[in-house]
Amino acid sequence: MRAAVLLAERSVGMEEVPDARLPGPDGVVVTIEQAAICGSDLHLYHGDLGLERVQLGHEAVGLVAEVGADVHTLSVGDRVLISGVIACGHCTSCWRGDPVGCRNGQTAVLGTTPELPGGQAEAIGVPGADAFVTKVPDGIGVEDSVLLTDILPTGYLGALRADITPGDTVVVVGLGPVGIMALECAGLFGPARILAVDVVPDRLARAARLGAEPIDARDGGAVAAVAEATAGRGAEAVIEAVGLDQTIIDAISMTAVNGTVSVIGVNLNMALPFPMGFAFLRSITVRSTIAAIPGTWGALIPLLESGRLRPEGTFTHHLGLSEVGDAYAIFDERRDGVLKVLLDPRR
Ligand SMILES: [Zn+2]
Ligand SMILES: [Zn+2]
Repeated sequence: MRAAVLLAERSVGMEEVPDARLPGPDGVVVTIEQAAICGSDLHLYHGDLGLERVQLGHEAVGLVAEVGADVHTLSVGDRVLISGVIACGHCTSCWRGDPVGCRNGQTAVLGTTPELPGGQAEAIGVPGADAFVTKVPDGIGVEDSVLLTDILPTGYLGALRADITPGDTVVVVGLGPVGIMALECAGLFGPARILAVDVVPDRLARAARLGAEPIDARDGGAVAAVAEATAGRGAEAVIEAVGLDQTIIDAISMTAVNGTVSVIGVNLNMALPFPMGFAFLRSITVRSTIAAIPGTWGALIPLLESGRLRPEGTFTHHLGLSEVGDAYAIFDERRDGVLKVLLDPRR
């Protein structure tokens, strides 16, 4: 079969690889209909993990092609979406939809190691299918299904864990795909205002179209701009969706007394210069979240079905798997107004 393979630093190509197969009796094989490229795929692309020859992708939807003997909730032909994060599939945390909290310590992201080939491919084998693969209800389109595999749950949990209450001012720092999901989910909790911070003009314009107040951070004045917009108080809830040291420090610095900072940007710095004095004197709560993806489906699927949540227009680029090298370059370089890329493995 064909799959996107990380060939070297900043080089991804479509290659012929061994066919996907059942990972065990608790697994399924899914024929992929659409797969997305994620911001976290760029960490592999940039060589941050020092890996090569990985079959990429953790955001995919498709049709069940093969079912292991121990799988009880899925049948051949079911249209399904797959959690980008998986684990043992058999502990209480996994059954609760929280593979990040797996009691057996088997948390893993699909498509990030040679042992777990990813979903930017014609097919994928997924272990623990009863816990991590779910049928797509009829009313949910393919693009929304792909969003449910990772970034919409991440944005939702970022907003949920920001403790937004009705009337609050919310700041979203970073308006990439995850930040936009967080911005749309923040609206579910009744804020009076959402301030949206980025450095890319078309991303600021997108946030404005979604009803947020854009703040252009290119001059480095985002903290001052939030202070000015809130009469010096800061925002009750700040969602950080970039993951740079500076944007996390900025997010804390934008927070009002008794407010909450919710970090969903990826930052692996073990020695971040943390503005403890500021956080202490303002009684600020700082949270970070890796998405417990399946645990959000019970909330997000009805919200999508009812139209209360409409993450439309997230996929700006639809390309074939054969164009995956260009697709990564466009996404990485934020060329051509890209927000998120969808790949079709059939072309
Ligand atoms: Zn992702
Ligand atoms: Zn587990």
